[in-house]
Amino acid sequence: MNLFRKLFGKREPHEEAQGEKNIPRPPVPSRDYTQLPHFKYHPDPLATESICTSNERCICCGQTTGYIYTGPVYAEEELNEQICPWCIADGYAHECLDATFTDEDGIGGGNDWIGGESERDGVPEAVIQEIVNRTPGFSGWQQERWWAHCGDAAAFLGRVGKAELLALGEEAEKINYGLTGKLEDWDTDPLFNALDRNGSPTFYLFRCLHCGRLGGYADCD
Ligand SMILES: [Zn+2]
Ligand SMILES: [Zn+2]
Repeated sequence: MNLFRKLFGKREPHEEAQGEKNIPRPPVPSRDYTQLPHFKYHPDPLATESICTSNERCICCGQTTGYIYTGPVYAEEELNEQICPWCIADGYAHECLDATFTDEDGIGGGNDWIGGESERDGVPEAVIQEIVNRTPGFSGWQQERWWAHCGDAAAFLGRVGKAELLALGEEAEKINYGLTGKLEDWDTDPLFNALDRNGSPTFYLFRCLHCGRLGGYADCD
């Protein structure tokens, strides 16, 4: 195409306007747009607000599905709030736009992890690819991290604050994020006291898909 243009003169204006969109793409996979896709590692992206109801048309499949992804997008182009959940779920957005949704360096690993295990926590490469390429991410105050347990990435449940953790009761005591004993005693900890679901600091809550244990991390602006 470029060579043709060099040899035979300037592009017509309408070609100029369409630009990169003329690059052929694989056909959009057949999908049931009436049912939101299921994401193993991000089971309720509506609750976490990584996916919102929207009248936006998806830049990838061209459909107005009623939903749009609002989390982080890593791509050449600025693609915020332009991709539908279906294009994430089957990898079509990754394939067509070379987009990813979570930084793979943030998955597992980190010996400073709350309740974490060893380096990268044994998360298999296939799981890392599923999260990076085919799972909605989430926006944190700092670089996002994805908690792992039992040799697998955990399911992201969303942001929680002190009130939500207290509501979890005994289950939250097992999060063991540097605090031990009864949940009511955590009240004396300044970080725990300040945790706010919609503010800073906040806690990113995950659940292990194997043993059910809760975990995650806190960060602030
Ligand atoms: Zn789409
Ligand atoms: Zn586990």
